[in-house]
Amino acid sequence: MTLEHGNVMTAGPDARRHFKRSLLHWYRRNRRDLPWHRDQDPYRIWLSEVMLQQTRVAAVTEYYGRFLKKFPSLEKLASAREVSVLALWSGLGYYRRARMLHQAARVVVREHAGKFPNTAEQLRHLPGIGRYTAAAIASIAFNQPVAVVDGNVERVLQRLFGQIIDGEELWSSAEALLNQQHPGDHNQAMMELGATVCLPRQPLCLRCPVSAWCATRGEVQSPGTPSRKTKREIRYALSSRNGSVFLVKRGKNVSLMPGFWELPEISVATPRVKPWLTLRHSITVTNYTVDVFRRQPSTNADGTWVRSSRLAALPLTGLARKILNAAGLI
Ligand code: SF4
Repeated sequence: MTLEHGNVMTAGPDARRHFKRSLLHWYRRNRRDLPWHRDQDPYRIWLSEVMLQQTRVAAVTEYYGRFLKKFPSLEKLASAREVSVLALWSGLGYYRRARMLHQAARVVVREHAGKFPNTAEQLRHLPGIGRYTAAAIASIAFNQPVAVVDGNVERVLQRLFGQIIDGEELWSSAEALLNQQHPGDHNQAMMELGATVCLPRQPLCLRCPVSAWCATRGEVQSPGTPSRKTKREIRYALSSRNGSVFLVKRGKNVSLMPGFWELPEISVATPRVKPWLTLRHSITVTNYTVDVFRRQPSTNADGTWVRSSRLAALPLTGLARKILNAAGLI
């Protein structure tokens, strides 16, 4: 591949120094005003990193504030019941994250006297903390010189270098560019650049602080097959009376969201009856069209009448929350 512009890796140590300085300067002046950008507390950094996995920033902002209000410290989280943690996570999806977060808080309190381990290596021994999260906490909260690689950083690096790199090569390239004096801000700057400037479809190269050291300036797109989503139709019954709603609890052994509450599913459509509500809902690789019918449960239906005032404290599936919201019940 012919490189028309400078490449930060091949341009030598001076170029790398300028690159790091420009990136850091840009980040400190332009970072979005997000609650976790104001913090170096490991508990808060960890919480934001876990919430941000597979979830949009706008959704996380709201949940993050609510979660910290209820569990302002690691100790409070560790002493909470799992059902309360899941209730607060309800609607954010990927509930395994919440369970792992809760378990890890208990391990830190029990085995580390409530103090977070401060190296990426030690952090990775905690439940649910992988290579990325460990590096993010270690660098941002403890100033440890370890680089992070997430989807945004991967895209930025590939464009900077003008080639597709993956696996270990990505991590070692990120390490080679890391600002050793300011690893936390550097890592956040790389992620912020990917999230706000080096965008997946149309990078804003004219606004990029490191375009002078970029091999492609957006001309080379990373290949990647767009994910194919399957479509499904699904029907639910919404039954409410006297301030209560009829819900069912998912079994303990189901693979997805065990123990969560949802509306009873209707297996067969009733001909010629129009749904009260139709909405779209996406879970991982499936797009659902959801029809909701207002009807009373049959006398032998499995399920429980739950008072609306109790709904906020229950772990509800994201879809149940959406429907109950539309019905004005929460
Ligand atoms: S925004 Fe453009 S110039 Fe900056 S790193 Fe991305 S592709 Fe390169």
